[in-house]
Amino acid sequence: MHEWALAEAVLDAAEKAAKDGSLKRVTGIVVRVGELQRMDLDAFRFSLEEIQKAGRPLLAGALIRTESEPALFACKACGRRWSLAEGAAGADAEEAEHIHFVPEMAHVYLRCPGCAGPDFEVAEGRGVRVSQVEGET
Ligand SMILES: [Zn+2]
Repeated sequence: MHEWALAEAVLDAAEKAAKDGSLKRVTGIVVRVGELQRMDLDAFRFSLEEIQKAGRPLLAGALIRTESEPALFACKACGRRWSLAEGAAGADAEEAEHIHFVPEMAHVYLRCPGCAGPDFEVAEGRGVRVSQVEGET
């Protein structure tokens, strides 16, 4: 299951960060989930809780929060960075939905709002990462 594997990777990363920071107990973890990441957030949260309960003493009491990371595109031609809402201003609702679920489609529907160029990359908003690990040393 996709969400389970992601949750496992996230908790591995949190555990490593805690060890690197010499934390004896982790109290809070913040996970950023990219707007363009394709997954079931409920299943992801469920997986996090289940894995946390199953033999991760360092993370046992931690409160895990998930935050959405907005998508950000960067134009390779003019350097402008823009959000999905801004870039999809000319796209209709159905097209915007396509971009959400298939980020590769962004290049079909989006153009740089600055120079109208099609040569851009997804700078943020893909993948899942641990942004913060809090605890007691
Ligand atoms: Zn541009």
